[in-house]
Amino acid sequence: MSKRDYYDVLGLSRNASAEEIKKAYRKLARQYHPDANPGDKNSEAKFKEVAEAYEVLSDTGKRLNYDQFGHDAPNARGFDFGGGFGGFGADLGGLGDIFEMFFGGSGKTRSGPQKGADLRTDIEITFKDSAFGIEKDIKVPRIETCDSCKGSGAAQGTSVKNCPTCGGSGQTQTSQNTPFGRIVQSHTCSRCRGTGRFIEKPCSTCQGAGRIRRSRNIHVKVPAGADTGTRLRINGEGEAGLRSGPPGDLYVYINVLPHELFTREGNNINCEIAISFTQAALGDEIEVPTLDGTMKFKIPEGTQPGAEFRLRGRGFPDLNGYGKGDQYIKIKVVIPNRLNERQKQLLNEFAQISGEGSAENKGFFNKFKDAFMG
Ligand SMILES: [Zn+2]
Ligand SMILES: [Zn+2]
Repeated sequence: MSKRDYYDVLGLSRNASAEEIKKAYRKLARQYHPDANPGDKNSEAKFKEVAEAYEVLSDTGKRLNYDQFGHDAPNARGFDFGGGFGGFGADLGGLGDIFEMFFGGSGKTRSGPQKGADLRTDIEITFKDSAFGIEKDIKVPRIETCDSCKGSGAAQGTSVKNCPTCGGSGQTQTSQNTPFGRIVQSHTCSRCRGTGRFIEKPCSTCQGAGRIRRSRNIHVKVPAGADTGTRLRINGEGEAGLRSGPPGDLYVYINVLPHELFTREGNNINCEIAISFTQAALGDEIEVPTLDGTMKFKIPEGTQPGAEFRLRGRGFPDLNGYGKGDQYIKIKVVIPNRLNERQKQLLNEFAQISGEGSAENKGFFNKFKDAFMG
């Protein structure tokens, strides 16, 4: 059965604060409450869905779990699962845990240190900043080690004990007498979920999870030449590890905002420059915008519409240090759409000396006749 994402159910983003979760829940619960909608099956279903989402998201441990495993998260407070499987940090360690969880008894306990999950964040930068690079602080909500309990999950003055059910091994055994003899099977301990740990009095800050959500400012250096899709890896700024495991990494994905004049193609820049038809015919010196400000550029006599010119080294610096791209300017010739009498007179004269007879372009009709009527 497919289940809606709990955050979607409450209409919240994954970074929602505890306060926002509570507010969203209250509002929706009031809206769908059976007393307010007597006999409405749909409202009743919604009400249950909202309550279930709230039950999980309002509990730090369950929420951490849900964030990492989604609806497959174990229902009990399995706050010791973590790392690896969330996002793109799916490493074999994480998968190993999953196998263990479903198939039980691989003999390995999950009591060792575990690396924190990698995080992804997306940032937008301007076209210009992508050319020259920029340093900025970004806010990253993440899971950090709880300061109050130093990640143990146990309240101050108490300690983490061995699980009384499995004695700290994380495994329990059941035996069964069969016609073929006694079969002993190992299972992951259901009380501690294989961690072998038992917390008598959970830390009040993190509710025993050992980790808490927090928003952090992280300083990011975007190198010159970064493009949309460029991924920066910031070591150790991902989520906290479990049981003294190392933190994951933070991946920052760059998104470059469009520019009104320039487009980027590889390390080259394209732009279109409009000139008048007289400038095109006679040639002219014009100002051309570049990343470093405007520069003078000489348009040769007789420049055709669509002509392209290259400004060497005016493109983006290569991210790997292989020089710089170029800027291409494409010429657009603008034909005036309103001429005064004097201008018309001059153009007619121009046409006459050019042998076109009149501005009605007889030359073209003659060519047309030649081509089709022989
Ligand atoms: Zn704590
Ligand atoms: Zn146990």
